[in-house]
Amino acid sequence: MGTGNAVQEWLRDAAEVFAEHAGELNELDRAIGDGDHGTNMSRGLETALTIPIDEDMSPTDSLKRVGMALVSTVGGASGPLFGTFFLRVGQNWETPSTTSGIATAVRAGLEGVMARGKAVEGDKTMVDALAPAVASLDDSAAKQLPLEMALRLGAQAAHDGAQATRGMLARRGRASYLGERSIGHLDPGAISSALILASAARHIS
Ligand code: ADP
Ligand code: MG
Ligand code: MG
Repeated sequence: MGTGNAVQEWLRDAAEVFAEHAGELNELDRAIGDGDHGTNMSRGLETALTIPIDEDMSPTDSLKRVGMALVSTVGGASGPLFGTFFLRVGQNWETPSTTSGIATAVRAGLEGVMARGKAVEGDKTMVDALAPAVASLDDSAAKQLPLEMALRLGAQAAHDGAQATRGMLARRGRASYLGERSIGHLDPGAISSALILASAARHIS
């Protein structure tokens, strides 16, 4: 229950998910950006996990390692932003994991992203997936739902939020240069956020 190993399994799974989806995420980024988002994310996560995993590493340290790798090895907007997300989630991780503990940690991650990137909901960024996930986790914490269910609902909220970016006009990042032409395309960073949360839902309990 909520051990460091569960977090390591989550991160390892996330690295596999991004390796699998890199092409698709690049494709999404090609439509409204420079086509490197999938490559950026999979390279960052892979770098973080090349160092042999220490079974006893704390969740905070495991998440810090991934966060630092994303900040330092991934150029562009998403490296520092997802890096900050993982660092802040790690700094606020509570063991054993509970619904309210996860809600607090993911909220801290979202706040870090928003402080660094200055995006708000509706700007067509990763925030549009992360913010609904946090709202859902808070709601589940208030209802005292079990962690597994809370994470599944949170991941679904992130997925729905990511899908909703299709209709949005980009106001931050590279996609904002397109103005009206950004409408009608999914935001790749929002899709990545949903993938990260879906992966968490499969491993954190
Ligand atoms: P780059 O645009 O530098 O090539 P990526 O392609 O890896 O970086 O990442 C693009 C993603 O980063 C976007 O889809 C969006 O979700 C996210 N993003 C860009 N700028 C911001 C920002 N200011 N705040 C939050 N997210 C942002
Ligand atoms: Mg890009
Ligand atoms: Mg780029």
